Amino acid sequence: MQDLTHYINGEHVAGISGRFADVMNPATGEVQARAPLASVEELNRAVDVAAKAQPAWAAVNPQRRARVLMKFVDLLNRDMDKLAEALSREHGKTLPDAAGDVQRGLEVVEYCIGAPQLLKGEYTDSAGPGIDLYSMRQALGVTAGITPFNFPAMIPMWMFAPAIACGNAFILKPSERDPSVPLMLAELFEEAGLPKGILQVVNGDKGAVDAILDHPVIQSIGFVGSTPIAEYIYGRGCANGKRVQCFGGAKNHMIIMPDADMDQAADALVGAGYGAAGERCMAISVAVPVGDETADRLIEKLVPRIEKLKVGPYTAGNDVDYGPVVTKAAKENILRLVQSGVDQGAKLVVDGRDFNLQGYEDGFFVGAHLFDNVTTDMDIYKTEIFGPVLSTVRAQSYEEALGYAMDHEYGNGTAIFTRDGDTARDFANRINVGMIGVNVPIPVPLAYHTFGGWKKSAFGDLNQHGPDAFKFYTRTKTVTARWPSGLKDGGEFHFKAMD
Ligand code: NAD
Repeated sequence: MQDLTHYINGEHVAGISGRFADVMNPATGEVQARAPLASVEELNRAVDVAAKAQPAWAAVNPQRRARVLMKFVDLLNRDMDKLAEALSREHGKTLPDAAGDVQRGLEVVEYCIGAPQLLKGEYTDSAGPGIDLYSMRQALGVTAGITPFNFPAMIPMWMFAPAIACGNAFILKPSERDPSVPLMLAELFEEAGLPKGILQVVNGDKGAVDAILDHPVIQSIGFVGSTPIAEYIYGRGCANGKRVQCFGGAKNHMIIMPDADMDQAADALVGAGYGAAGERCMAISVAVPVGDETADRLIEKLVPRIEKLKVGPYTAGNDVDYGPVVTKAAKENILRLVQSGVDQGAKLVVDGRDFNLQGYEDGFFVGAHLFDNVTTDMDIYKTEIFGPVLSTVRAQSYEEALGYAMDHEYGNGTAIFTRDGDTARDFANRINVGMIGVNVPIPVPLAYHTFGGWKKSAFGDLNQHGPDAFKFYTRTKTVTARWPSGLKDGGEFHFKAMD
């Protein structure tokens, strides 16, 4: 069994705390590696290294910094298969899904190559007599990010690509469940020419996170993960005077209007509900058909599609629809919630509870489940299940359906399937959710737009990637300058004239 490392000052460094987390192979249920859990001292060392390296990196002109990002993109493409394989092995998702994880992160790196343009400041000539005014965006210094298990390539890149393009140093604390790809990314970035100490990976759990939250040198913290932890990190990070953005959990509703193309809606729901075993913050977990006839037609189309889903390990080929969930605890939690749905009176139309994959009996595979007649007081409706479980809540009108999505505490993504432009437009305008799909089930914005939910799905003012990231990872400084010649004759005259 392999002991993984931290990546500090350009080197793989063994953990010295004596604490480790098991990294599982979710398909077999075996422990395949151990991730070191950093002590405060180990985190402090990475911060010291970053603080030393950062000023020189910030002084590199933005175009040269962008060239390092260009080279990094080349290397990501070169190593795509290797990265995807390492990702699938620890996370469990299929290889095409894992490659997609890397690809979506890579696209943010590509966007950040525009740093010279995105970092340009503003200038006002002759704001007063001989006075010019200009503003510039400066790097924050040492920044940090704490990321979840479900996108171990994409989400770290969402954070560190803009942070580094802006001239910051970045300390990544990835999920202890699948830390290998983040370590590979740090190595690749240095191969692309990034100076040592600008991107470091410190593995760990709450201990390392608390050390990040309390370290006086760390200027900003990005977090993506579950809502209770997001709230904790936001509160403690802000109280310590840091710039913090936290993205949390979700319960994404898809409304299906009677006029929707029902085949298209069913296909979309199967992909968005069960893809990646439902372990996506943008997964659709609640279907809201409008009218009983729509609901009956939809369920009739969904059932055979769901029953056809192929569940298996990533090694079984590209026709596998989804793999195991990440841990035994995650599997148990999903099955417990499914049971609560049955006990609380929902109708289990597709029952995956007895699913067993021959040869992989110890793996964390979960069969697909479909519930009908779910009501808003049930735990399966209120809770983020993060598994292959789709709940159907029947609505009798568009207003009732809209109300469900509006009233839920989460507000990450939502979708409407309809052929009616008026309804779609009304939905997009009124809904209190951050990312909206119209006949698109997983409306993840592309790299040059921003990503972020509302309500309990996000804490902080700015979204991830796109132009917001360049605001989050810089401070604006505004200079008002007057030069002596501006005070001579002409300057005085202008001043009087202006009065
Ligand atoms: P998680 O909250 O358990 O862990 C996220 C990170 O926080 C990890 O790095 C972990 O080590 C750390 N952490 C865990 N417990 C902690 C504690 N008590 N104190 C301090 N740090 C702690 O989340 P997860 O299970 O890795 O990921 C799944 C969750 O992430 C889901 O809720 C999903 O919706 C959410 N997510 C949200 C988005 C988004 O953009 N909104 C994107 C992806 C995932």
